[in-house]
Amino acid sequence: MTFTKSIVGIACLLSTLSTLAQDKILNIYSARHYPTDEVMYSDFSKATGIKINRVDADDAGILARLRAEGAASPADVILLVDAARLWRAEVDGLFLPIKSAKLEEAIPTILRAKASDNGGTAWFGLSTRARVIVYDKVTYNKTDVDSYEKLAESKFKGKLCIRSGSHPYNLSLFGAMTEHLGSQKTEIWLKGLVDNMARSPKGGDTDQIKGVASGECGVAVTNTYYLARMMRSSNPADKAVTDKIGVVFPNQSSWGTHVNVAGGAVARYAKNTENAVKFLEYLASPSAQNHFANGNNEWPAAKGVGFDNPALKAMTGGSFKSELLPTSAVGMNQIKVQQMLDRVGFK
Ligand code: FE
Repeated sequence: MTFTKSIVGIACLLSTLSTLAQDKILNIYSARHYPTDEVMYSDFSKATGIKINRVDADDAGILARLRAEGAASPADVILLVDAARLWRAEVDGLFLPIKSAKLEEAIPTILRAKASDNGGTAWFGLSTRARVIVYDKVTYNKTDVDSYEKLAESKFKGKLCIRSGSHPYNLSLFGAMTEHLGSQKTEIWLKGLVDNMARSPKGGDTDQIKGVASGECGVAVTNTYYLARMMRSSNPADKAVTDKIGVVFPNQSSWGTHVNVAGGAVARYAKNTENAVKFLEYLASPSAQNHFANGNNEWPAAKGVGFDNPALKAMTGGSFKSELLPTSAVGMNQIKVQQMLDRVGFK
C-alpha cells in the first residue's frame, strides 16, 4: 500500500516536473529579420527562465506553415512585419484572441486587431515603420518627390528603383493607395511606376538606397529603419551612401506618409499560452519598446514610450503626419493589388 502510494506520488511528482519543464518553453515563429532583436529574446529568457525556440521565415512562409500544421503546430507566438498579413492571419483564424490588461493599456486601438466576439484581441502592433522616398540630392529637390503620386511623373523615366511589387511592404503601400485614389487611378499610377523603373525590381530596400547613391537610380522607396540603420552605421561606405541622398516623408499635405505595423499574436493552437501572453506583454513594455526604437530604428507602438534615436529625429525633424487607415481596408485590397501588378507588369 505504502509502496503503491509512493509510486503514485513519484508519478505525480514526475508529471508536475514535466509540466513545469513545459512551462519554461516558448516557441516563436518570427518574420522579424533583425539581428538586433536577439537582445530582447535573451533579456526575456533571463528575466523569466523561459527558453525561446525560434523559427525564422517571412510572413507568407509563416502563414503557410501554420495552415499546414493546423492543430499540431508547436507555435506559441507569431511575429509578423506587415499589417495586411497580420489582418490576413486574423481573418483566417490562425491567431488565438487574448485578453491582457497590460497590452490593452499599452497599445493604441488603431495599432491592434478589433476586439473579437469573446472580447479578446487577435494581434497587437508592437512597432511601426514609415515607407519613405529617397532621392539623389544633386539632381532633385524634396518638392520633386513630396508625394507617392509624383513617382509616376514622366520626369522620373528610367530613374525609379523599388523592390518587388509583391513584397508585403509594397502590397500594403499599394493597398493604401487604392483606398486613397480608387482602383482605376492606382492602376494608372502603378503603370507609371513600371514605366519609370531604372531596372527590373531586385533586392531589398537597402539595395534601392544604395542604387540612388551609386547613380543607377534617381529616386527609390524604402522603409525608414533601413535608412536609419545606414545613417547610424560606423562603416564609412554607409556614410558615403547617406551623404548623397535626401529623404522625404511623402504626402504631408494630403493623407500622410504610409506607415506599416509589425506585431505579435498568440498562435491559435499554442500549447504555452501563458508564456506567450507574458512574452507579448514584455514586448510592449517600455524597455522592449525602447529597444525597437534604438535597436531596430522603429517607432514604438506603445503609448508614452520616450526614446532617443538620432537618425529618426534627423529624418523627420521631430514628427511627421502619418496615414490613418484601418488595417482591414489595406488587407482587403491585397488581392486586387496583386492583379493590378500582374496587369501592368510590375514584377
Ligand atoms: Fe524589413
